[in-house]
Amino acid sequence: MAIIVSCDCADKEGAYLLDLRKRLHRTPEPAFKEHRTAKLVEEVLVELGLEVSRAAGTGVVGLLRGGKTGPTVAVRADMDALPVTELTGVEWASQEPGMMHACGHDAHMAMALGAAMALAPARRSLAGNVKFIFQPAEEWPGGAKPMIAEGVMDNPDVDMVFAMHVSPDYPAGTIAVEPGYVTAAQDRFTLELTGRGGHAALPHRSVDALAAACEFVTGLQQVVARRVDPLEPAIVHVGTIHAGDAFNIVAGSARMEASVRTLSDETRVLVEQAIRARVDALCAATGVSAVLDYAHSYPSVINSPEPVRVVREAATRALGDGAVTGPARPSMVGEDFAYFARRAPGALIWIGARPDQGEVYPLHHPKFLVPDATVFAGVALWKEIVTSLCV
Ligand code: MN
Repeated sequence: MAIIVSCDCADKEGAYLLDLRKRLHRTPEPAFKEHRTAKLVEEVLVELGLEVSRAAGTGVVGLLRGGKTGPTVAVRADMDALPVTELTGVEWASQEPGMMHACGHDAHMAMALGAAMALAPARRSLAGNVKFIFQPAEEWPGGAKPMIAEGVMDNPDVDMVFAMHVSPDYPAGTIAVEPGYVTAAQDRFTLELTGRGGHAALPHRSVDALAAACEFVTGLQQVVARRVDPLEPAIVHVGTIHAGDAFNIVAGSARMEASVRTLSDETRVLVEQAIRARVDALCAATGVSAVLDYAHSYPSVINSPEPVRVVREAATRALGDGAVTGPARPSMVGEDFAYFARRAPGALIWIGARPDQGEVYPLHHPKFLVPDATVFAGVALWKEIVTSLCV
């Protein structure tokens, strides 16, 4: 096996890395079922001589110990694919029906593996350690939290943690990274309303759960419009509502599901309290009873200033002047890298994945494909980040 990547697709190591990336792309697997993916990642890391362990089932950790003492830098790559039918038409397209690496996690893994290949031979001169964290189930329900619970950020304790996520918003060979909020907290709730069914002609003898649900959805808009600071981003979105069986029957029950997204922890708490207050008020006003199941998911990703500075300087050295683009505005999507970045100073980096030519497809699109140039840029940047911290 080749173990040095010089970041040039023309050479043997580059070709090996691209082949590895294709193998990962061909076999996309769902959350916590990344078995073949984990096995392949494990094989490469073992071959390179890293200390390899498992966490959270299909999560893989490879520890590269440097020859001298220094900080422990964590490199995180996510492993899961999406329930999308691939339409890229490439020869190495998904062989799993209805599954695809449509979020570029195959490229994330390839970049991290490429970095391990590039750094492993030079370990003696490395002052510090590199922890390669391959994380399952990023999209849902989240592999970061269980991996941290199993100790992946400890022993040796991680001093700085980084992740790269591909973005078709920026050209291949560039990156965007900012201090502060990167992604949003994403919570969700289901609300079950129970009234009393009856005849449409006798509304006063019924409790109409459907009418109550409609009132609730409309009133819910007031939370963002009138309770949240207009300078604080927040979304309260009802995605489903089910109620009623026939035109002449009063619906005795209604059920809805909603997504709640916020950036600051304070707004997150405020919005939840406002929603709970509205549920209580709805019950008092309409006579329905309610069961609210409010589930907290990933918090927001907050980049720390120091790792951002390290990344920007490394990117300029590794990828050239002008490689740092942006500004990258925060996004209301969720990313469970948030848990890592709340355990150690961290940075989530958007790495450009816009092709030179042709149509640009968004993440999760059946034709989204990460260019090879992005993979090589990622390897070069990882190598530079690590070496700049471990000198
Ligand atoms: Mn993703």
